[in-house]
Amino acid sequence: GCTAASTVAAVRAAAEAITEHKVELTTLDRQIGDGDHGENLARGFAAVLSKLDTEQPATPGAVLKLVATTLISTVGGASGPLFGTAFLRAATTAGDEPELDGPMVAAVLAAARDGVVSRGKAEPQDKTMVDALIPAVAAAEKAATEGADPAQVLHAAAQAADQGAADTTDLQARKGRASYLGERSVGHVDPGARSTAYLLAAMAGAVE
Ligand code: ADP
Ligand code: MG
Ligand code: MG
Repeated sequence: GCTAASTVAAVRAAAEAITEHKVELTTLDRQIGDGDHGENLARGFAAVLSKLDTEQPATPGAVLKLVATTLISTVGGASGPLFGTAFLRAATTAGDEPELDGPMVAAVLAAARDGVVSRGKAEPQDKTMVDALIPAVAAAEKAATEGADPAQVLHAAAQAADQGAADTTDLQARKGRASYLGERSVGHVDPGARSTAYLLAAMAGAVE
């Protein structure tokens, strides 16, 4: 199941994925934004890793809360408060449970999605991270209903997020910096949708 230890492993894997894809994410953001998305997330997750060197959160919820507060204070830009809110809502939903089952992991992901939507007010098809999160949560909820375990729920979410991110290519941005480009934002993948898919894939691979 999803314990504190496996949540820490998931967060470490997420940090690695951001380092691995930092240049790509920054390149995507250079095409339709200000070219800092990879750097922003890399700075945030580096801070998360150094906190995890000294703190041992006792529950999945406490791990998610540590990630939230660290990202909020280090990432900046549009995505910092959005990812911060996502992890904060996720932490609240995880509560002080020692271990999360499949349906709880799906509920945690749904809370993260709702946090991003309430904070950023993006609608579906606005070409943002919401376009990765919405299909991810739908797939996670379906998998959980069918009896999937936490790893399977996260894998379903990651796969759907990957498709959702790819599908942002044809959209015109209506939120964030990319919206300033109007029609010229069409033809590029949204960086935040891409990073969201990478984060979910990494976490899925790390949770047993
Ligand atoms: P900034 O645009 O401030 O430089 P980042 O480059 O780190 O911030 O993040 C950009 C990403 O943030 C976008 O690709 C998009 O996915 C996401 N984003 C921006 N505004 C919103 C919003 N209102 N709702 C959801 N996601 C958003
Ligand atoms: Mg940017
Ligand atoms: Mg910026």
